[in-house]
Amino acid sequence: MHEFTEERQAEERLRFLAEASTLLSASLDYEATLADLAKLLVPRLADYCIVDALDEDGGLRQVVISHRNPESEELLREVRRRYPPEENDAHPVSEVLRSGKPFLAEDARDEAIRRAAVDEEHLALYRRLEATSYIVVPLEARGRLLGTISLGTGESRRRFGPLDLELTHEIARRAAQAIDNAILFRAAQESYAQLDTLLVSAPVGIGFWDRDLRFVRVNDALAALNRLSPEEHVGKPLAEVIPELAPHLEPLYRRVLATGEPVVHEESTDEAIAGPGDARHWLSSYYPVRGADGETTGVGGVIMEITGQKRADARLRLLAEAGELFSSSLDRDEILKRISRVVVPRIADACNIYVANGDTIERVAHANADPELERLMDSMPDRYDLGPSAPPAFRALFLSGEAMLAPEPTPELVAALDQMGLDRELFAKVGSRSMMFVPFVSRGETLGVMTLGSREPDRYRESDLELALELARRASAALDNARLVRELTYRRTLLEAQQESSLDGLLVVSTEGRMLSYNRRFAELWRLSDEVIASESDDAALAQATQRVADPEAFIERVKYLYAHPDETSREEVQLKDGRVLDRYGAAVRGPDGEYFGWLWSFRDVTDQKQAEAELRRRAQAAQALEFVGDGVFLVGSEGMIRLWNPAAARITGLMESDVVGKPAESTLGGWPLDQASERPHTFPFDGQRGELWLSLTAAEFPHGTVYAFRDLTEERAVEQLSSDFVSTVSHELRTPLAAIYGAAMTLRREDVVLGHEQEASMLEVIAGESERLARIVNDILLASRLDSGAATVSIGRADATEVARGVLAAAELHLPADVELVLSAPEPGPQVAADADGLRQVLVNLVENGVKYSPNGGCVELELEQLDGRVRFAVRDRGLGIPASEQERIFEKFFRLDPNLSRGVGGTGLGLYISRELLRRMGGRIRVESEPGYGSTFSFELPLA
Ligand code: ADP
Repeated sequence: MHEFTEERQAEERLRFLAEASTLLSASLDYEATLADLAKLLVPRLADYCIVDALDEDGGLRQVVISHRNPESEELLREVRRRYPPEENDAHPVSEVLRSGKPFLAEDARDEAIRRAAVDEEHLALYRRLEATSYIVVPLEARGRLLGTISLGTGESRRRFGPLDLELTHEIARRAAQAIDNAILFRAAQESYAQLDTLLVSAPVGIGFWDRDLRFVRVNDALAALNRLSPEEHVGKPLAEVIPELAPHLEPLYRRVLATGEPVVHEESTDEAIAGPGDARHWLSSYYPVRGADGETTGVGGVIMEITGQKRADARLRLLAEAGELFSSSLDRDEILKRISRVVVPRIADACNIYVANGDTIERVAHANADPELERLMDSMPDRYDLGPSAPPAFRALFLSGEAMLAPEPTPELVAALDQMGLDRELFAKVGSRSMMFVPFVSRGETLGVMTLGSREPDRYRESDLELALELARRASAALDNARLVRELTYRRTLLEAQQESSLDGLLVVSTEGRMLSYNRRFAELWRLSDEVIASESDDAALAQATQRVADPEAFIERVKYLYAHPDETSREEVQLKDGRVLDRYGAAVRGPDGEYFGWLWSFRDVTDQKQAEAELRRRAQAAQALEFVGDGVFLVGSEGMIRLWNPAAARITGLMESDVVGKPAESTLGGWPLDQASERPHTFPFDGQRGELWLSLTAAEFPHGTVYAFRDLTEERAVEQLSSDFVSTVSHELRTPLAAIYGAAMTLRREDVVLGHEQEASMLEVIAGESERLARIVNDILLASRLDSGAATVSIGRADATEVARGVLAAAELHLPADVELVLSAPEPGPQVAADADGLRQVLVNLVENGVKYSPNGGCVELELEQLDGRVRFAVRDRGLGIPASEQERIFEKFFRLDPNLSRGVGGTGLGLYISRELLRRMGGRIRVESEPGYGSTFSFELPLA
């Protein structure tokens, strides 16, 4: 325990404070200073000292920890490590940081440490440190809390009082001040270093000059601009470093010095540094540099080189101007002339522009900055040959569109130009010393070449070539555009002409419903008004068109549907109210990539076609009727050709359609009485393939010729013939017996003549015989007609064939001519046949009578019966006249007679064989004849055994 009088204590505190102040102001390294401060405080004021600094982010950093006893310092460090105050709200440090108020625990031994301890172990550690008294004061500067200083006593058992707290707080205030200063200084130093780095490495030139306009300092960029090192500038006057610019710059600097006002964005150009077009440009600002008291001590400057920008600007301007100029024309030669005027004089003194035309190039534009030289250029050739013998470089220029840069007229270049036919002397006079050859290429095709020449050697660099190429690209685009526009105009004109000449009405509607394109025919077909056409509105056109159609609702429905389904194409007919029919075709109009542009409608008036179709259908039906009609129909055109020959005509005549159609009627139908044909039928014989036919022909005129119809009347004619045969035959056959009967009867009636008994009997005999003959004829006629009508029937029963035959022969014997002999050859007993006995008898009578009748020279007539397997064969054979083969069929026809005129005096009705055939047929037999004229005939048939 120290003893202090109040006065000495005050003195002591002041001295201590003075010592601390001196210490704190000694250095700007505040961490070292705080450590020194701790040494001052321990052990003179406290047993230990801890300084905690508050970081920017609010964390607590233990800057100093110092204990008079190294062992205890270790322990103290451990306590602090294991129980950091920032994790303990009850810790005095945390309390001070929260409140900003100093903290004093005069006697910390019991309650205070218990409050600060987190747990028993913490408390035990405090006890080991023998914590007695405790002070925590804030470090605060400019209202900002920087941390805390903690002082404590332990083993010394010293106790702090309010005066210690005040002293410590005062020291903390001064320490905080010192820390703040140190921090500020460090920040200032850092920012100065940053500034300096910036100054030195800035991409813009920065410099400082004193009032005498001597260089004080320049950065690397400005030094480089002046082509000296930064050090070489220092102390030198402006006029010495940049003599060319000094006259311009000095007044500026002086103005800044005089007025104290900055000069901003001064542009300067240095033409002297490089050749024309290569001038350098700067943009600079100058401002006053002031000393601590505010007076102007010098000039600062910021200098930026903007040559690149200026050049780029100029190029852009040139390109923009050129682009606009080119695209304002659609004429190739005009565009090329404009190019030559753009490049001269801006990037060239002379310019020639050629276009390729096969193996030759033709000059279409040229220009020179000097009018006199331009006149000279007029006399240069306008055409060069680019054939295989041309210099390869020029061929490459045209064939592959390669650009070429010739910074100087090399001997090779001059020789090449010479080879092309360019006069050396003329070339020399125009005086191009550096040249560029720039092709115009569009879509891989070299359109032409531009040559640019400068009178200045080595004038052109890669960048110039690039500019020229860019210019050429724009010109190519303009040329290409011109070409495209011409082509489009041409195509459009073609399309329009096509559209207008189309018989179809065409309309293209855009996706927005605008009528993009339509032809006159479209408006005509739909009878659209001029207003509707002028409106170009599809809706308006549709509305008007809808009024014309027969079914407006279906029409509008369909159109809407199609617009909503652009992928469908459609074709259908639209019936109009006025009777016309339009064929409508609709399809989407799509671009090359399938994009939907709109809709195409095409209309065609098919009214005539429809009518023609209907007519054709009608005709086809008529023609079809002709196919089926039974009459032969043919058509002879007015020119005399057979145009139609129906199947019936072919069937009747045997002449095929292909044989007659397209042939002249006169020769093909030679025997036909075409001239005599009229509406009244005309019958004529026609020599058909199957014998003679009788055709009845009628004719009707029609506008394009004559239609003939004919039918086959052969059968009708045969019937007619038959009836006339019948009449003549029957009348003859009846007349003979009638005449005999009449004669005999008249004789018997005569009174003047007395007949003897014998004569009378003979007369009666005649009457009886002829009557019988008459009866037979009439019977035959009746039987034939009954057979014809189907009224005559047979009743099949059993008949003894031999017996029937014998009876027939016996009857025939009665009036047999003397020179004819009848012979029967038949089995005995006679076979029983299934037959109608009367019918069989009648047949045999007919055959035997015929055999006798047609054997005028007499002979033997045989009746032969032969029993075969299950049947009996009957044959009647004579040795008479015989029958020609051609007539062997016909003799069985009704009334047919080989000798109808009775030239041989043999009468007959021509019914016998007909009746025989018909009777036999009813009995299941079939009559046949074998005969040879002059040698006789054999008639035979068979009947089944009963
Ligand atoms: P008709 O004898 O009354 O004339 P038919 O019908 O019996 O009638 O005979 C038809 C024709 O057949 C005869 O007119 C005759 O010309 C021929 N004919 C029939 N039988 C014979 C025959 N046996 N020999 C030659 N001609 C015959």
